Amino acid sequence: MKIVMLGAPGAGKGTQAKMIADKYSIPHISTGDIFRANIKEGTPLGAKAKEYMDKGLLVPDELVCDLVVDRIQQDDCKNGYILDGFPRTIPQAEALTDALSKISDKVEYAINVEVPDENIVNRMGGRRACVGCGATYHVKYNPPKVEDVCDKCGEKLILRDDDKPETVQKRLDVYHEQTQPLIDYYTKQGVIAEVDGTVDMNEVFDNIVKLLEA
Ligand code: AMP
Repeated sequence: MKIVMLGAPGAGKGTQAKMIADKYSIPHISTGDIFRANIKEGTPLGAKAKEYMDKGLLVPDELVCDLVVDRIQQDDCKNGYILDGFPRTIPQAEALTDALSKISDKVEYAINVEVPDENIVNRMGGRRACVGCGATYHVKYNPPKVEDVCDKCGEKLILRDDDKPETVQKRLDVYHEQTQPLIDYYTKQGVIAEVDGTVDMNEVFDNIVKLLEA
């Protein structure tokens, strides 16, 4: 099962990607998480990525494509994977299609989690991320058991720099300009699956499972 998650920042695609990865025992590959781990470890890739991320901009394609193409060739990806946050531009989607076509393979499902911009702006302010393991929560829709403490690892929860209101609008503009065209791209490949992302997260998940198992 090779799945790509599409949707605006804050549409909940990361949460859904983790739930799908758990259900089908496939790796969840989030480019955002990979960059954040690199920033935390102080790697050169992290330093470069941070310059763009803090401004709400996309990290250049050349820093992302090889990283993902290498990752999906690892052993644990043999039975499939779920890509979360990649591709985000047409050149990234083409790089993925090319890499897969070399092994006579293709993306099987591109799941688009649809949420209008106005809902996103409201949601992002309430989002909290764990400084330790990167798990994400929402103060209202998906709160941790103890305020500002990660359920999974006990570390502190913070509002990520790129979830701050001034950066959110920029990320939405970038999404509409550079990432939304991927909906057409995967529609043409015949693999798009659309779900309403405004309903409860468990309902979104059930609807995704129905599409995957139809
Ligand atoms: P995310 O956690 O997926 O929302 O990603 C956070 C930030 O990481 C984005 O706003 C981008 O700056 C950067 N990023 C993650 N994935 C990509 C990608 N595929 N292409 C370019 N930049 C990315």
